[in-house]
Amino acid sequence: MQTYCQSCSLPMDKDPLNGGSEKDGSRSETYCSYCFEDGEFISPDMTVKDMQALCMEKVQERGVPKPLAWLMTRTMPKLQRWRELKEKQQS
Ligand SMILES: [Zn+2]
Repeated sequence: MQTYCQSCSLPMDKDPLNGGSEKDGSRSETYCSYCFEDGEFISPDMTVKDMQALCMEKVQERGVPKPLAWLMTRTMPKLQRWRELKEKQQS
């Protein structure tokens, strides 16, 4: 079974560190090492739109055509980080 980072949708097996780190030093199975370190998000003020723009850029750098890159970021608002953020903003 393949898992994806619940912040940027990176497949965990593409993460050189196999996941971010929790406060106690254990591996996060939810977020990758680019997004999550020591139990905190690396860019806590990021919005889902910022993340989509960043990922569009990164995957295009790796040779993914723009329409496909766009498609890849469309499901991002459904990831856990952004769903939780939305709930917080609404309450
Ligand atoms: Zn990530």
